[in-house]
Amino acid sequence: MDSINIAYILLGGNIELREKYLKDAENEIAKHIGNIIVSSSIYETESWGFETETPFLNKLIKVETGLQPIVLLDKLLEIEKSLGRKRNVATGYSSRTLDADIIYYNSEIINSPSLTVPHPRLHLRNFVLVPLCEIAGLFIHPVFGKTSLDLFNGCSDTLKIKKYVQ
Ligand code: ADP
Ligand code: MG
Repeated sequence: MDSINIAYILLGGNIELREKYLKDAENEIAKHIGNIIVSSSIYETESWGFETETPFLNKLIKVETGLQPIVLLDKLLEIEKSLGRKRNVATGYSSRTLDADIIYYNSEIINSPSLTVPHPRLHLRNFVLVPLCEIAGLFIHPVFGKTSLDLFNGCSDTLKIKKYVQ
């Protein structure tokens, strides 16, 4: 049997129906990746890095998986694709039905061409740190040696984030 790994995955999207895409993504993850053992609240955030009319919804999930990191990434990209995300290669950032990023994979440090874990910008973004503090406040970032709460307290991001009321 594959050994069980713990991955924290941040889901986000800013195209209607934002909530439906989050739900669909969770269903696909449960089917193809592994059990979702903890979920954060849904948060609504201003967009980061580009202007858009619809704010993002974000949700962090903690997943048990037998998949190795690169296989996990490939599955997430497949799920993004199956939910209809169109990438804009030219401009980098773009509106999206669903973005699924690997935030942590166990306490591993991975630097491969297609995958960097811990996610290289997680400590710069309230929309990652706030849900991380909610479900894994004492988890220690394996590169910085700091808890999620420490990272949040040291973060200068000013973008507004609030719990999303359904
Ligand atoms: P972003 O999530 O930064 O807005 P994309 O979702 O378009 O950008 O991701 C582009 C690429 O980032 C993916 O194809 C993937 O190869 C790479 N990548 C590197 N590290 C990670 C990670 N930890 N989680 C998800 N994707 C990652
Ligand atoms: Mg992504």
